[in-house]
Amino acid sequence: MVGMDRCVELVGGLTAPESLAECSREELGEALESTQRLANALAAAQVRLIAEIATRESIEFEDGTIGELPAGHEVFDGAEVVASRLGCSVRHASDRVAQSFVLVGGLPRLLAAMAEGVVDDYRARVVVGELVGVSAEVSRRIDADLAGLWYDAKGAPAPGRLRTRVRALVALLDAEALARRADGARPMRRVARWGCAPGLDTWTWLVPSEQSLTAWAALQSRADELRAAARVAGEQLTVDQARSDAMFDLLRGVLTEVRLVVTVPEGAVSLTRPAGAQPLVLVDAFGTSERSLVPARWVSDLAAHPGARVEYAECGLVTGALAPPKRAAVTGYRPPESLIAAVKRRDGTCRFPGCTVAARFCDIDHVRPWPHGPTAYTNLMCLCRRHHRVKQAPGWRVNLGTDYAATWRDPTGGVRVSTAPDRLDGGFSPLERHLRALLAG
Ligand SMILES: [Zn+2]
Repeated sequence: MVGMDRCVELVGGLTAPESLAECSREELGEALESTQRLANALAAAQVRLIAEIATRESIEFEDGTIGELPAGHEVFDGAEVVASRLGCSVRHASDRVAQSFVLVGGLPRLLAAMAEGVVDDYRARVVVGELVGVSAEVSRRIDADLAGLWYDAKGAPAPGRLRTRVRALVALLDAEALARRADGARPMRRVARWGCAPGLDTWTWLVPSEQSLTAWAALQSRADELRAAARVAGEQLTVDQARSDAMFDLLRGVLTEVRLVVTVPEGAVSLTRPAGAQPLVLVDAFGTSERSLVPARWVSDLAAHPGARVEYAECGLVTGALAPPKRAAVTGYRPPESLIAAVKRRDGTCRFPGCTVAARFCDIDHVRPWPHGPTAYTNLMCLCRRHHRVKQAPGWRVNLGTDYAATWRDPTGGVRVSTAPDRLDGGFSPLERHLRALLAG
């Protein structure tokens, strides 16, 4: 195996496309391997940086200047600072902080092997993922047991085998940790939905294993019935399609009411009918931040259904953000319910960059504190409890622009912007939107 200096040399000499063309296949392979080793070493550096920055606390002195203290534990806005600097979601940053603490505190040999480039970030996360709830002492014993694997001439074990081995070691050294982990996982059960492709949504479901086995049996049984019925009718239904249809069938049985919001460009289309002759329209399921592209005909048919409510909401041509309500500002501190509802609908989620807490669980915050800032659509935004606190923590600054983009500056000087969700076709220029609206109208 070549040394780290040689890796840097090999990769550094290959930045121009013409120098790649002159390389042999063997040289390219060697350079590719070197990029991976460097990436592994950088991942180890990130782990150490994250573990360090997440334990520094910002403090505000009496003269208003910001300083810092080593806190010796994870500070409450640690994940936010990491998210701000890595440009990732707070949830992802929070996972990275937790993983970094486990690696630094419980897996020093694994971290050293990463720094030498012989273990990748993915395998490290596999090991860390199996050590949830395990003490640092047990982690270090497992770390010692695994150490020989990283420098094996055959290469590091496949992630699946690594996971099995670590889980077996945990069962051997700390059987209760496995049981605690199973209990701790149950509160994480959840269902989420998002529009992944035109006409297709993705659902993910984290479900306790015994519920999952029962539900799967029910799903499979209904899917078999649907496939048999399709065969009789001379139609083709794959196993995957049948399971999807069966899931819908089972859930439809408890349908109560469907409420949809169809978003249309401001002033461009009549608010009393769907957007012209377009085959697909964007809709929000009421109370969620996730949009889907669905057939316009389905929306028209649904509107005639007694259990359905379809509303039309205007969005700004430039930003795609929901347009202000009729009563967009009041004189007092407390916004009226209609204004709160409008801000929640506009924002969809907490407005901290990368936070996904739904607006209905958020506070309505005066971005510039009242009475310096007005109680107005342009000065209100949704913040979850945690990010309400972060906003008030030393060193954090926020500004809400006239386009509803919130610019956040963290105590380390990192700047990130969270724009209000674009509820029209994201990515189109105002001119394109205008033309589309004209064509549709
Ligand atoms: Zn938040």
